[in-house]
Amino acid sequence: MSVNATAQKVAEAIIPPHLNWLEQKWNGWYDYMNNDTLATGILLLVLHEGIYFGRSLPWLILDAMPSMRKYKIQDNRPPTRAEYIECLKSVITAHTFVEAVPIFGFHFVCELFNIAYRAPFPSAWTVIWQLAALFLMEDTWHYWGHRALHSKLLYKPVHKMHHKYAAPFGLTAEYAHPIEVAFTGTGTVGSPLLLAYLTGDMHLFTVAIWISLRLIQAVDSHSGYDFPWSLCHWFPMWAGADHHDDHHHYFVGNFASSFRHWDYFLGTETPATTRRRDTGKFTAEERHEIVEDPDDIADRAKTSGVSGKTTTARRVKA
Ligand SMILES: [Zn+2]
Ligand SMILES: [Zn+2]
Repeated sequence: MSVNATAQKVAEAIIPPHLNWLEQKWNGWYDYMNNDTLATGILLLVLHEGIYFGRSLPWLILDAMPSMRKYKIQDNRPPTRAEYIECLKSVITAHTFVEAVPIFGFHFVCELFNIAYRAPFPSAWTVIWQLAALFLMEDTWHYWGHRALHSKLLYKPVHKMHHKYAAPFGLTAEYAHPIEVAFTGTGTVGSPLLLAYLTGDMHLFTVAIWISLRLIQAVDSHSGYDFPWSLCHWFPMWAGADHHDDHHHYFVGNFASSFRHWDYFLGTETPATTRRRDTGKFTAEERHEIVEDPDDIADRAKTSGVSGKTTTARRVKA
């Protein structure tokens, strides 16, 4: 336990702060565990697994409902049972061997960056502005990192795995090479650490809400569903599922995670995304066409000895 946490505990014993129900339960968890490192680790592990799989489940149910097919962006490629199983196995492996270790080391990092972890929680205003800042910070990290992952050096050995599913579904959000999982996780966890370093004011409660919202955003953006009531239709800066679905569909463009501004201002939107901004509607071609990975086209050209332009995505018949 850090000096700060000990001082806080002593202060609480002398003048107990007024804590609401959730704050009492939060502190009760740490008191019950009597091991802050383990308490934070278990809290974050349960949160991560619960949100990731809990949020993926409704999309899986929707995939089994033919009446929902009209909302599926690429409605001609519903995920198969084998794809679900393969994806699930890979995600569980990554969660166990790549993410669990840093999760249990996170309490140590909290103490290093002076992140408070006992209640009282910060004010609602502090939580809200910090969450907005974290979304913008992570989106920036993701945009530039994702562009780097599409470089010749990193695409084939690292990022190509995530592009296995050209028509993504919720569970594919973390279907990725371990290096990419670590890279994405660095943006998600590194953002609150940077904000804690810059402001000296960060609470684990805010970090927990942030991680939950970021996971929901990641799963939803891979869901493959666009509804008339989806967030991006009344908050146009929000990327939403159609933005990232286009990235998987066309293999290039739309590199950001949560927002549209980076791709819009730097001209990296897919033509379909740009066109939909005016019409708001998908064309039959955008919903049905199959586009081949430029990397596969380049590989084939290399082995067959054909030279020329080989890195442009090519539309092929379904
Ligand atoms: Zn990509
Ligand atoms: Zn993706």
